[in-house]
Amino acid sequence: TRIRPSSKRCAVIGGSGFLGRHLVEKLLDKGYTVSVFDIRQSYELPGVTFHQGDLCDKQALLTALQDVSLVFHCASPAPASDDKALFQRVNIQGTQTVLQACTEAGVLKVVLTSSASVVFEGTDIKDGREDLPYAKKPIDYYTETKIEQEKLVLKACDKEKGLLTVAIRPHGIFGPRDPQLVPILVDTARRGKMKFIIGDGSNLVDFTFVDNVVHGHILAAESLRPESPICGKAYHITNDEPVRF
Ligand code: NAD
Repeated sequence: TRIRPSSKRCAVIGGSGFLGRHLVEKLLDKGYTVSVFDIRQSYELPGVTFHQGDLCDKQALLTALQDVSLVFHCASPAPASDDKALFQRVNIQGTQTVLQACTEAGVLKVVLTSSASVVFEGTDIKDGREDLPYAKKPIDYYTETKIEQEKLVLKACDKEKGLLTVAIRPHGIFGPRDPQLVPILVDTARRGKMKFIIGDGSNLVDFTFVDNVVHGHILAAESLRPESPICGKAYHITNDEPVRF
């Protein structure tokens, strides 16, 4: 007989990243046992087991997912990259591999970090709801593959097979150790490249504090049960009002 995975044992794929590490720290606070699966190890923490590997490698994933009941998938190549093949390999084929490995390992729940850009068509969205359609013309390869990734994960939600899935869609994430958003803004400003305005200055952009994004992920994971209405759905996440930019 198969041993039922402990409900407090989870894995964070992409756990060495900015969001992933914040998620790991909060999960530890909440009494979870955490395994990190990532192509790199960026820190050490008591109570965390690191598994270094590529999420396209099912065997490596299976080792990290032993006895794990809950998986957070927040790994992705950097959005600024222009490498279409890499996005396809990691975000699409890799996500298929993650889902196969989760099924084989007996994982019960998968929480995907998606992106609000999956519904962005180039014009401002205010109070955008989850019933907005996916962008027909995604703004870049990253977003194109985030759409396919989200569809794969949500479609894999199958109560009969015992795998439940949900996706969280943040937009820009800020907070301590942010390697991209604020440092890039500051650097651009220092180089004097922020002295002009594109548009009339009323363009909208949405930023969410990393702890709120983490909170959303954990709430989603803990609410994900066979009878829950969130099964197989995606949720936007934000602080409150979008910022004028
Ligand atoms: P990050 O680059 O800090 O972390 C991503 C992690 O994924 C890295 O540690 C990287 O090593 C790992 N990774 C990449 N390819 C991998 C592979 N093939 N196998 C295993 N691990 C791999 O990025 P982040 O900002 O923490 O983003 C986390 C998630 O949130 C991503 O899915 C991203 O699309 C999503 N997201 C981020 C933002 C943001 O503003 N940061 C906004 C919306 C959505």
